[in-house]
Amino acid sequence: MSDINYLKRLFQDYYRNKTNQIPPIDSLSQREFGFIPWDDIIIMNRHISFVNYEAFKNYLSKFSPRHIYSSGALYNNPDHSDMNKKGHLGCDFLIDIDVDHFYTPCKEDHDLWYCKNCGKNGIGMAPNKCPKCRNSQFKSLSWICEKCLSLAKNEIFKLIEDFLLPDFKINKEELKIVFSGHRGYHLKIENEKMRNLSGAERREIVDYLTGENISYEILGLSDLNSNLYFLEDNYGWTKKIINKIKKNIQDYPNDVLKNVLSDFGLNREIIEYILNDKNNFLKNLWKIKGLGEKTWMNFLENITKNLGAKIDVPVSIDIHRLIRYPGSLHGSTGFRVQELSLSELETFNPLNENTQEIDPIVFAEKKDVKIKIEILENKVPSIKIKGKTYGPYNKGTIEIIPLHVAVFLLCKGVAKTRSFIDD
Ligand SMILES: [Zn+2]
Ligand SMILES: [Zn+2]
Repeated sequence: MSDINYLKRLFQDYYRNKTNQIPPIDSLSQREFGFIPWDDIIIMNRHISFVNYEAFKNYLSKFSPRHIYSSGALYNNPDHSDMNKKGHLGCDFLIDIDVDHFYTPCKEDHDLWYCKNCGKNGIGMAPNKCPKCRNSQFKSLSWICEKCLSLAKNEIFKLIEDFLLPDFKINKEELKIVFSGHRGYHLKIENEKMRNLSGAERREIVDYLTGENISYEILGLSDLNSNLYFLEDNYGWTKKIINKIKKNIQDYPNDVLKNVLSDFGLNREIIEYILNDKNNFLKNLWKIKGLGEKTWMNFLENITKNLGAKIDVPVSIDIHRLIRYPGSLHGSTGFRVQELSLSELETFNPLNENTQEIDPIVFAEKKDVKIKIEILENKVPSIKIKGKTYGPYNKGTIEIIPLHVAVFLLCKGVAKTRSFIDD
C-alpha cells in the first residue's frame, strides 16, 4: 500500500468511527464546501453543498478527503459554480491567526528553506533572493513548536478580550474558536449584524483590530498640549494606548524600561528624562525637549503595532472565503481542527493536551501501533509531541516511532514508511 493510501485509510477510519467528533455547523445546507483530495493536492473541489448534516457525514466517510473546508458565507444556491449566481445571503466574520504571517523568534530554530535553483539552504523565514544565486524561488519547511503556538494563542486572546468583547460587544456564545490543526487558530463570529457587512466594511473593522491606518488626530492625541488624562475615560484605542504607556512606564524596572522605550523609537536623553520622573511622565510629556511630533508619532505607532491583533487580513475581508471545518483532520499534520470554548482555550496545549475530548492529536490513541519510517528530506527539525522530542533527523535516517508522530511526518511529506509494527 502506498503511503498516501495508508494515510487516506487512517483518515477514513476517523471519519467513519468518530462522527460524533464532527459537529454540525450553523446553516450547514446554505454553505459552500470545498475539498482537497489525496491524489491531487493542488486543486480544490469547490461549489459542493449538502442537503443536511447526515449527507455531509456520509460524504466524509465515503471519500475522506485530505482537507475539508466550508464557507463563511451563506447562499441560496451554494453549489452554483458562478459566484455571482450563488445568491449571497451574508457571511460570518472570519479571523485567521497563523504564525506563518508574523515573526516568531523560534522560527530560527525550526523553519528551513531551500533554494529551488542551487540548493542553498538556511534557517528561519526564506530571504527574498537566494544569497548564492539570486533566484527567488524557495521550498520551505515550516514547522511548529510549543512556543509559536503559544504566541498564536496569546494573539487570539488579545483579539477576543481586548477588542471583540469590550469594543464590539460580541457575546461569547457567538465566537466559534478552533485550533487550526497546524500553525494557529481560527475564529468565526456568528453574529447577525456582522453577517451583512460588505468587504469594504470588513476592511474598516480589520483596520481597527490591527491598528493599521489609525488616526491619532481623531483619537485626540495629535495636539501635545491636549489633556491626555481626559482621554483615560475614553473607549477603544485611546484607552488601550494610554493604558499601555502607563503600564510600561510604571511596571517595568528601569533597565527593562530603557530597552522597551528605545524599541519604541525614543532616544537616550528622552529616556533618561522619563526614567527620572516616571510618575509624571504623561502629565509632562509635551514639556520634554526633543520629543517633537515626529518622535511622538513614531512612539505611538510602535505601541499601536504592539497592541494590534496579528491577523491574516485577506481572510477577514473576503466574503467568499472557505475555512477548515471543525472536527476535520488537517491533511498536512494529521491533527484535528479542534473546536474550543473560551475557557478550554485558556489551558489548551495543542501538542500536549491532557483533556482527551479536546486533544487534536487523535492518532495518539492507538498507543500500540509503531511505524518504521525513513527520512526523505535533507534536514528535518525536531518536534516535541506529547512531551517527547523526535528528531532532528537527516536524510536516510530510519527510526521506529509511534503512529501519531509518523502520521505527522508522512503528512508533512518529509518521510516514507518502511514497515508497520503492531505489538
Ligand atoms: Zn540559489
Ligand atoms: Zn516555534
